[in-house]
Amino acid sequence: MNIVTIAVVVGIAMTLGWLGCGAAAAVMARRRGGATAPWILLGALLGPVGIYLIVKVMHHQCDACKKPVLRGVRQCPGCGDDIARLEHNPVGPMWTYRRDW
Ligand SMILES: [Zn+2]
Repeated sequence: MNIVTIAVVVGIAMTLGWLGCGAAAAVMARRRGGATAPWILLGALLGPVGIYLIVKVMHHQCDACKKPVLRGVRQCPGCGDDIARLEHNPVGPMWTYRRDW
């Protein structure tokens, strides 16, 4: 196996991994009440960072059934309950990204 073959194989593996991250991000976002198309794009562009965004940065929880949902989702995809806004709403340089729900 020469260096070109190895490079091609690694390239294909990484592309598939990145696309897999896109698919995983889309599935996870969908379960949390997010839209599919933008999260496929975000997941494919950001790779593991997209999944980190969903799990940590965008994390919010339904009060009624304790299911994890995305921030900005107003209605729980699990039980259909309205989701209350966050009590603590930090207003800082990140305020446009950290909406108060
Ligand atoms: Zn719920």
